[in-house]
Amino acid sequence: MLYKSTRGGASNVTFSQAVKMGIAPDGGLFVPQENCVLTAEEFQNMASLSYKDLAIAIISKYAGDFTPEDIEKAVCNAYCSGSFPLEDPAPVVSVSESLNVLELWHGPTSAFKDMALQILPEFMTKSNQICGDGKEIVILTATSGDTGKAALEGFQDVPGIRVIVFYPEDGVSQMQKYQMITQEGKNVHVIAVNGNFDDAQTGVKGIFGDQDFAVLLAEKGYELSSANSINWGRLLPQIIYYFHGYYSLVKQGKINLGDKINIAVPTGNFGNILASYYAMKMGMPVNRIICASNDNNVLTDFLHTGTYDANRTFMTTISPAMDILVSSNLERLLYDITGGDSEAVASYMAALKTDGLYSVDSKTSDTLQNLFWAGYATEQETEETIHHVYEDYGYLADTHTAVGIHVYEKYVSATGDQTQTLAASTASPFKFNKSVAEALFGCEALEGMTEFQLLDYLSEQTGQQIPEPLKGLDKKQVLHKGVCLPKDMETCISEILGVTQ
Ligand SMILES: *Cc1c(COP(=O)(O)O)cnc(C)c1O
Repeated sequence: MLYKSTRGGASNVTFSQAVKMGIAPDGGLFVPQENCVLTAEEFQNMASLSYKDLAIAIISKYAGDFTPEDIEKAVCNAYCSGSFPLEDPAPVVSVSESLNVLELWHGPTSAFKDMALQILPEFMTKSNQICGDGKEIVILTATSGDTGKAALEGFQDVPGIRVIVFYPEDGVSQMQKYQMITQEGKNVHVIAVNGNFDDAQTGVKGIFGDQDFAVLLAEKGYELSSANSINWGRLLPQIIYYFHGYYSLVKQGKINLGDKINIAVPTGNFGNILASYYAMKMGMPVNRIICASNDNNVLTDFLHTGTYDANRTFMTTISPAMDILVSSNLERLLYDITGGDSEAVASYMAALKTDGLYSVDSKTSDTLQNLFWAGYATEQETEETIHHVYEDYGYLADTHTAVGIHVYEKYVSATGDQTQTLAASTASPFKFNKSVAEALFGCEALEGMTEFQLLDYLSEQTGQQIPEPLKGLDKKQVLHKGVCLPKDMETCISEILGVTQ
């Protein structure tokens, strides 16, 4: 499989080149050059595979310049070497008659980002061996909280690679912040940005687009790459778990092989939900994909009206990983839905950059509406959902998962559709323990408790175990204290790498 840019400026790019570059030179995102569709026989045979073998089967379709041994090694290192302690890395838990959650947070950082960021370093190292020219790769990452930690954990002490993470100073939970600022490793750097996630992401995108800076870095032996979901190497591993979820429903007797299911995804940068779209394109039977947002409901409006308008107030919510107004991966969907019209995509993205908005034509909008159902949850609705899902079904959902479940419930009331649904559960409730505990017990009951005391409290009250990696974070040494303004991010990188501009 070869790759090209959504904006038309690059084609015939190999998997390893796409992974190593992260973003296309014209600012577009890499997408597969052809459709990859499973035969009926392949789809059937994959039903009985373990997660590991399923991963190998799917990755083999896309990683054309990796040998079968490379792929097997990458998959084993990521999923079978203890990072995911459960036998099933992504278990499906039945919540109600037709709602099932796909738990994606049993990895080392307790959020779904691990599903991809445990294997991306494997892809990156191999890609650099295949098509690198001996430069040290610098992974530059803007994070709304979870990507940063998962990237740090995945790339910690990987030879030939450095990681620099920028996070919004006041835009992440205490638990997320502690996870990052206590990160160990000789090759990791963590910096707070005085701004929100969009500021950090825009800053990083600007640095990727700065050709002079790239030349300067190259002279010093460095090359930038990305661990954000703009990197195809992040998206690919996410396709696997949707198939795995589907086959799990078959095994549990909830559906027969070939039945359609709905997918509900709490969405931020549109990466996770896009992976479900790719799974569908490959042949997984899907009825509706439910796109759930929080108060930053730019995607809800877009899917309802065909106009993407980022000119609105950025809201800081209790589901911070979804506090995003510019959802990067939507670009890949637009490319696909318009039948590969890179001119149209480039013009939408140019308009987004200059005016903060663009509109797609009515045909595109109709196509989107036939497949996606969009809605959002307010802060209060999110809290109520955490409460009611726990009371009614005994399921403890984190704030992001609750947004997804709420919008799914709205969808059911609006349509009456009882199709079996797989809702992505994207973080452990303990990672967002303060908001979860407040939703369950009210603020008064928690007064005076620190986030770390709350971990124990939540565990005692619900009888659920605190994930190992979140325990004892407050006792760890703070190793990263740097702060910078969005406009100084490039300078900050120069200082870290010892490159003078
Ligand atoms: C990143 C994240 C999301 C949003 O995923 P996207 O791929 O950016 O849409 C949702 N929930 C949690 C917990 C996350 O970490």
